Amino acid sequence: MVAAVESATSIALHAAQWNPAAHALATDRTQRIARVLAGLELDLAAQNAALLLEQSTGALLSPELLQSVGEEACGLAHATLRMALIHDARARDRAANANDRAAQLEGLRKMLLAMVEDMRVVLIKLAERLVTLRDLASLPPSEETQAVAREVRELFAPLANRLGVWQLKWELEDQSLRVLEPSIYKEIAKALDGKRADRDAYIAEVKTSLIADMGAAGLAADVQGRAKHIASIWNKMQRKGYGIDELYDIRAVRVLVADVRSCYTALGLVHERWTPIPSEFDDYIARPKANNYRSLHTAVVGPGGLALEVQIRTHEMHRASEYGVAAHWRYKEGAFERAANPQASGKRDADFEGKLAWLRQVLEWRDNEGGGTGNSASDVVDALKTNLFEESIFVFTPQGKVVDLPKGATPIDFAYHVHTNLGHRCRGARVDGAMVPLSTALSNGQRIEITSAKTGGPSRDWLNAELGYVRSHRAKSKVRAWFHALAL
Ligand code: AMP
Ligand code: MG
Repeated sequence: MVAAVESATSIALHAAQWNPAAHALATDRTQRIARVLAGLELDLAAQNAALLLEQSTGALLSPELLQSVGEEACGLAHATLRMALIHDARARDRAANANDRAAQLEGLRKMLLAMVEDMRVVLIKLAERLVTLRDLASLPPSEETQAVAREVRELFAPLANRLGVWQLKWELEDQSLRVLEPSIYKEIAKALDGKRADRDAYIAEVKTSLIADMGAAGLAADVQGRAKHIASIWNKMQRKGYGIDELYDIRAVRVLVADVRSCYTALGLVHERWTPIPSEFDDYIARPKANNYRSLHTAVVGPGGLALEVQIRTHEMHRASEYGVAAHWRYKEGAFERAANPQASGKRDADFEGKLAWLRQVLEWRDNEGGGTGNSASDVVDALKTNLFEESIFVFTPQGKVVDLPKGATPIDFAYHVHTNLGHRCRGARVDGAMVPLSTALSNGQRIEITSAKTGGPSRDWLNAELGYVRSHRAKSKVRAWFHALAL
């Protein structure tokens, strides 16, 4: 896994390739955003788009800029700026209880994903948030810096996690912890006694010796590793009530081999090289976890007397755990499991989960220097040119609550979704403050306000499919039920 998002060579290399017109408009901040994207090996169009992030949305549509920078980069920058409209709207979010809040955040994350036709926009946005947070982390904490950090922690870091972009996820989490809980952050950093770079170097050294051992034994193995980031350490300390010296996975590696027998051979090699720590061995191959997770876990006394976690599994077990139903993030990000509206959105959610799992797989190569899935940068860009929600849109109620509707839904569908009686009495609608016809198809991120009559019911026109007043099955059946009841 790559430690720093950007390296010195990629900085020089990419700056030389940037579009000159975009480069001329860039600021120090937007250049740093572009470099983060270069570090992720995102294409030049995305990097050029980042350089433009301090232009106005109007400027991004100007013929001169489209001509000199290109439509692709201008379009990506424009879409990225549009995302700010949504998360600014979060100021309206005042959900009372924790449960509501989790569902609300989940709705907002999906809305952000649904807004874009190209997932590169999400990555540009995440890089922009990262650079912003890095800057804020060096300022004295204030309400404003904390609000940004909280939003990153709740909204953007989970998105990075869902997309499998580990390099962004860990730093977004660490930088937000640094702003929100400076003393905890410092304490853990101090206890770790060593810079992130040193811990990454330690992992690299362990990987080298393991690869040598496996090779000498004729075992074909992929070895991955990571230094646990500070926010993850803090989460685990809180979740388990542990002190930092009770965590054995601060330094951790994972060995992927061909078959089950090789797992045990690899385990033998690991225990031969380093002394195992008693009680830290788990055989989840012989005894899989309830969610069918399979792997061998051990902790050993690694180089320098430091605890080292080693997980050993087959490639197939790895795929199941990272991309399958038992995927890692599922139990750690429980909020993502709760749909804004479980009944109506069940199938659409399943489609979304499937696409997302596929996208994570395409993106996987970023995590493995050399040992990735072999997807080229252009394969990845092609895969990113996708809208994760082809069948859903997400809109806001006047209170800022996110509502999930089928694509093409109208204000009447929205009204019925909020409350059956609001649907029956719906007479007019404002979208982002402006009156619209009741047959208007709504789009992502709009704020919908219904004007209703005190009494009365739906119009028969609403059942006329050609007039297009009602698109969702749920609303249609409620209109039908109303007239049915009248006929009795
Ligand atoms: P954690 O800090 O445990 O939440 O894990 C963060 C990331 O590190 C996830 O992508 C995990 O899949 C990965 N990870 C966890 N344990 C190991 C390990 N033993 N070896 C390699 N990667 C790991
Ligand atoms: Mg762990």
